[in-house]
Amino acid sequence: MDSMADRLRAKGLKVTPQRVAIYGLLLDTNEHPTAERLWEEVKKEHVAVSFNTVYTTLHALIEAGLIQRLHSGNAAHYDADMAPHVHLSCQVCGEVGDCSADIGIDLLGISPRVQAATGFCTEKVELTLYGCCAHCATTATSIPRAKH
Ligand SMILES: [Zn+2]
Ligand SMILES: [Zn+2]
Repeated sequence: MDSMADRLRAKGLKVTPQRVAIYGLLLDTNEHPTAERLWEEVKKEHVAVSFNTVYTTLHALIEAGLIQRLHSGNAAHYDADMAPHVHLSCQVCGEVGDCSADIGIDLLGISPRVQAATGFCTEKVELTLYGCCAHCATTATSIPRAKH
């Protein structure tokens, strides 16, 4: 298996300890952290790293196609899982999770069908569901509910 450094090099990125650390943190988690949270984590290993370095590193990793940026509310979240998968964005706690269960939807299969029907050529498939996570549904009492 390629090391993280090899993957960075293969995409034409200079290998720096900060890049390896940030990419490594993202590969190790499925929590889709924000830049701020990544900064907190990376500071534990690289005390001198600035928020700006974290941000520019994330940008370089996105440009290289190694990670993706997701939006939930007004925060950006980062994900090193580039395979099409369903995201669940909780509007109460702001967490973004993966739908890891097999829900019988072939995200990759959507593109050829759309192209056959419309001629549209897909580069990237994203599916995010917005709502309330199971944790918030059981703990929060102030979730706005539709009036009957
Ligand atoms: Zn939640
Ligand atoms: Zn994800």
